[in-house]
Amino acid sequence: MDMDKLVSLCKRRGFLFQSSEIYGGLNGFWDYGPLGVELKRNVREAWWQDMVRGHDDIDTLPGAPEPFEMTGLDCTIIMHPQVWKCSGHYDLFHDYMVDCRESKKRYRHDQVNGRWVEAKGKRIFVATQLGGDDALGETQQRALKFFNLRTKDAEQLQWQGPIVSLTKVSDFQHVLGPDAKEIGTLTEPREFNLMFKTYVGALSGEEGAAFLRPETAQGIFVNFKNVLDSSRVRVPFGIAQMGKSFRNEITPRNFTFRSREFEQMEIEFFCHPQASPEWYKFWRDRRYAWYLKLGLAGDRLRLRDHDQDELSHYSVGTADIEYAFPFLPPGEFGELEGIAHRGDFDLRSHMEGKLVRKGDELVVELDEDGKPRHRGSGKDLSYRDDITNERYIPHVIEPSAGADRATLAFMCQAYTEDEAPDENGKMQSRVVMKLHPRLAPIKAAVFPLVKKDGMPEVAQDIYKSLKKRFNAFYDEKGAVGRRYRRQDEAGTPYCITVDGQTLTDQTVTVRDRDSLKQWRVKVDECVEEIARLIESGGAGIE
Ligand code: ATP
Repeated sequence: MDMDKLVSLCKRRGFLFQSSEIYGGLNGFWDYGPLGVELKRNVREAWWQDMVRGHDDIDTLPGAPEPFEMTGLDCTIIMHPQVWKCSGHYDLFHDYMVDCRESKKRYRHDQVNGRWVEAKGKRIFVATQLGGDDALGETQQRALKFFNLRTKDAEQLQWQGPIVSLTKVSDFQHVLGPDAKEIGTLTEPREFNLMFKTYVGALSGEEGAAFLRPETAQGIFVNFKNVLDSSRVRVPFGIAQMGKSFRNEITPRNFTFRSREFEQMEIEFFCHPQASPEWYKFWRDRRYAWYLKLGLAGDRLRLRDHDQDELSHYSVGTADIEYAFPFLPPGEFGELEGIAHRGDFDLRSHMEGKLVRKGDELVVELDEDGKPRHRGSGKDLSYRDDITNERYIPHVIEPSAGADRATLAFMCQAYTEDEAPDENGKMQSRVVMKLHPRLAPIKAAVFPLVKKDGMPEVAQDIYKSLKKRFNAFYDEKGAVGRRYRRQDEAGTPYCITVDGQTLTDQTVTVRDRDSLKQWRVKVDECVEEIARLIESGGAGIE
């Protein structure tokens, strides 16, 4: 699928707009339009319903070691600055960046690739932000330009080795930056904290400094005791939260994939340390299955276990659920969700202070005077099992998803070009968003075939009854074929048409977006029919 086509559909039909577009936009920030807001809301609601509200606390789910409880939270975006010091974000949450003195652009060090080439007695590293085959083509073009060679002289370029990351290069004097004309314009990599800083109240200076949260997870850890004391949950249980997070990403890109303001859907699942490997596996598989159920295809979705050297300093195991986004080079996948075994790192950090690994142990990091570098809350965040009387700090499994990345993946998967018959039965090409009915922004559209003979009145009554249950749309303008096509682009799974026959036998046609099948349903059974189809996962009748 061509990403440009999806991007233009998103703007044309109101899924996504650039933030503050009339002022030229703001890089890394996106607004959801009338269709997009419904789609993203449905993604979040599907997650909340399937993981929290609809969760069965009584029976053992397939693959789970035992029954467990789920509950929710909604914490503030700005929290006590100590939270980020103990969580490690204050010290560790940075990327390395390089600036280009010539183009004034800034790049993430690990996202610049390139290759060494020699020509006319000079050896340079040609850099690009592209990857895979795109990077090969781009570096070739730029090398020809740099050395003032024509395409037919390409054999004068002596390439030395494959495309590698800029992180493998130490000699920046000979690097041709991704947007530069001269070599040696990139600065040495510099650290850059990804947290947005702000100031609370009238206090000026560092006393009032605070951060916008870079993840929702920490709000859950610092409320662990509150949840235990106020609800009667017992380990194993999970606390879920969704909400905005902010990261001052150096190079936001790929549409909403890497934004500076985005929404997360996170679960912290607390369990007994000994049972944690089993729970880790359960959540990994369960979260993968969730995306499949909502329509992401198996060949474009994968579950990838991290290598040992990729794991965070506290993690026993981490897996990513990844999707082959169309803007990535063939064979590359982008992270949709990470499922991490975090041990007792977070609860202990908020009790004792920021931890560091020493050999096999996690110990409180000390400053030059031997005092904790970042002091914890000093509160007891352990758990006592009221049946066995055992006291311990629970281990945590964290499935951490991004609502915007999931929404983008569902849109990429849904975008389809095929053919559908027009009102004369002639096949015409169409663009159709084959979104899962649960996710579709509009569940059903109602059309009177013509604007007379009492058809609009019947159609409007159906529309009003539908509206009480779902998002429905009423349209009486233009040829019915065009109305269908507009709904296909919006991803509406069902269209209901009131026609001449309706007035004699009180039936309407229901048209299925994907199979294009049409069948008749009684007017007063229409709402139930649509509800049944949406709940059963859609796709018409056989
Ligand atoms: P990446 O390596 O892509 O920067 P990450 O590993 O830092 O992501 P996590 O900290 O694990 O991401 O965050 C959990 C989830 O939050 C990610 O899987 C992703 O869905 C979402 N997310 C993180 N950063 C962004 C962002 N800048 N824009 C949109 N979504 C994001």
